[in-house]
Amino acid sequence: MSPPRYAEIALPLPVTRSYTYEIPAELSARAVPGARVVVPLGRRRAVGLVTAVDVAPPDVPARAALAAPDDQPALTPALVDLGRWISDYYGAPLGLTLRALLPGPFWSVAKPAGPAEGRERIVSLVRRLPSLTEREEAFRRAPRRRAAYEALEALGGTAPLRHLVDRLGLSAAVLDGLAGQGLAEVSVVAHPRDPFAGTSVPPPPVMTPAQADLVQALLAAPAATPAVIHGVTGSGKTLVYLELLRRLVDAGRGAIVLVPEIALTPQTVARVRGVFGDRVAVLHSGLSDGERLDAWRTLRRGDRVVAVGPRSAVFAPVNDLGAIVVDEEHEPSYKQGSTPRYHARDVARARARIEGARLILGSATPSLETLHAVETGAARLFELPERVGARPLPPVAVVDLRSAERVPEARAIPWTTALDDAVSGALGRREQVILLLNRRGFATYLQCPQCGAVTECPHCAIALTVHRTPRALRCHYCNHERPIPETCAACGHATQRQGGLGTQQLEHFIGLRFPAARIARMDLDTTSTKWAHHEILGRFAKGEVDLLLGTQMIAKGLDFPNVTVVGVVDADTGLHLPDFRAAERTFQLVAQVAGRAGRGERGGQVVVQTRHPDHHAIRAAAAHSVRAFATAELPLRTAPQPAYPPTVGLVRFVASAREADRAAALADRVAGWLRRANAGTLAGALTVLGPAPCPLARLEGRWRWHVLAKAAEARVLGRVVRAWRATGRSGVTVDRDPVSLL
Ligand SMILES: [Zn+2]
Ligand SMILES: [Zn+2]
Repeated sequence: MSPPRYAEIALPLPVTRSYTYEIPAELSARAVPGARVVVPLGRRRAVGLVTAVDVAPPDVPARAALAAPDDQPALTPALVDLGRWISDYYGAPLGLTLRALLPGPFWSVAKPAGPAEGRERIVSLVRRLPSLTEREEAFRRAPRRRAAYEALEALGGTAPLRHLVDRLGLSAAVLDGLAGQGLAEVSVVAHPRDPFAGTSVPPPPVMTPAQADLVQALLAAPAATPAVIHGVTGSGKTLVYLELLRRLVDAGRGAIVLVPEIALTPQTVARVRGVFGDRVAVLHSGLSDGERLDAWRTLRRGDRVVAVGPRSAVFAPVNDLGAIVVDEEHEPSYKQGSTPRYHARDVARARARIEGARLILGSATPSLETLHAVETGAARLFELPERVGARPLPPVAVVDLRSAERVPEARAIPWTTALDDAVSGALGRREQVILLLNRRGFATYLQCPQCGAVTECPHCAIALTVHRTPRALRCHYCNHERPIPETCAACGHATQRQGGLGTQQLEHFIGLRFPAARIARMDLDTTSTKWAHHEILGRFAKGEVDLLLGTQMIAKGLDFPNVTVVGVVDADTGLHLPDFRAAERTFQLVAQVAGRAGRGERGGQVVVQTRHPDHHAIRAAAAHSVRAFATAELPLRTAPQPAYPPTVGLVRFVASAREADRAAALADRVAGWLRRANAGTLAGALTVLGPAPCPLARLEGRWRWHVLAKAAEARVLGRVVRAWRATGRSGVTVDRDPVSLL
């Protein structure tokens, strides 16, 4: 009999150590590095991943693995290496990191194949009444039916019947009435429909000379250096990526295209499908577990060769990876919000290096991190300075809300005659309009005019937002909901004042102002159901909607040639957040949405309303110039100012606890630990800030304090996060390269 064999297994647990198990002879052929095994863990069983075989026997007797379900290892050696890199770079436990690399159902001991599809009754609007005039006619004597219609509309037009009746208290008879009127229908669904099925748009037959030259230049450049494509909005970056990928795929290689979740529009997918047909796997968030596994398997087997998807698609099991494209690389949604807190752009860089693939980062408004990489030679810049067809970038009028003439009927709503004229002009010419307001809800807070008290969330240190459809006060962090109070909880005063404009109120106002206009609103509230945002954009594309208003969701990726006017109703909503990236985010948002105008032959114009017309973020966005922005912003993040990325690296430690004292004490301990390390082995390479309460001092019932550690050298921060991981302390999250300091 041969001696027993042992393997090192990573388990998806928040622990630093690895586990050693005995591998029985009958599992030996399958239990190779990267393969899943089922192992006993205490009295339970768990799915783990083999990270090394033929390791030394442990000091205590090892238990034996029970099963090895993979015919071929779930993770390739390259992906196991990538997992180790992520674990070490971000200081995350290896087991939790590897868990993030595989679809969720792979970690289920009970049902490794994933849960069966459920069935449910769905109510969908089938006819829309987007203008106020139509609505008043249809519901003249049926206010309850109108309320039901508007509740359904606020949910994006589709919602489970159970939700409407149980949660929103709508009556089934009223919903039947909507169906009887031909406005809605009730259906039973087993599988979510796939809005991408059958969508395909062949690429234009000829590239512009600028695009063709860029493809050549990219192919001629050394594959090992990441390429940054800075193309102005409307310059046709996507076509360049797709042509480059087509050549790689024709040569037998695979590719990954990362897009921000909200930019995963039917438009983007249709274009990728137009080039690669059924060789594309679309990994969107609406997939059921079963569909996700199917997509994963087709890639792993090599039946499909191109993966398109948000953040986690960076782990797609594409064979012989030739390139990873990160579209809109500046998007904060590429950062994962739970352990491992990775940034998909930076993981893509590591994966490209490990697998010898090209990395292509694209944006009209590259992040300062990426511009810095170009500056230091870590990446190479390619530019598309002109729009396709030499169409000009739209002129941007910056309107000063402090002094500009306002439309009197607008009362408290910031609506100037400049914006009003532009919108009514476009509507009159049957052109389309996009209005950005990056705040959802009806009003941003409720305040007592008598004593000044603002109604806050009982779990978070945040004002509750006033919602009208459906009516409630809602917390935008923890979703806590309560009825809108009639009187002040502090002093009993009878009326409450609503302050701060949200998208619902803007929609209401626009409806009254332009009663014939067909309006659609797109924000988190109208897109909470699976395909809502595809549906809204689909109607806009078909010309069934004249005016699309919404939050940052409408700012990027959209390409509608009939949009001639873009209005930014309040450019200042994010300008004063206590975060060093507040100006950068404002610049990106305004520049991106401005780029939606004038993509067709009719040209376009942009109106930006602000109280800070001279702020460098607003000025640079009005000039469509990331260079102008970077030139003004970089000195503000560099000594003698307090240094911030990209000139230094940053790690944020957030201590949280149910008791305020405990959170503060935990943060104190972290700061002490960092300062001792800095005085000792790190020899002063670190700058430690804090502890201090986080700007969002309480969330979901937990008090929050943070400590920041900065260093010019990346490897210093690597040592810090790994040393912290080794302490195994809990109650503190470590976020390297954070995208938010709130
Ligand atoms: Zn009061
Ligand atoms: Zn809350």
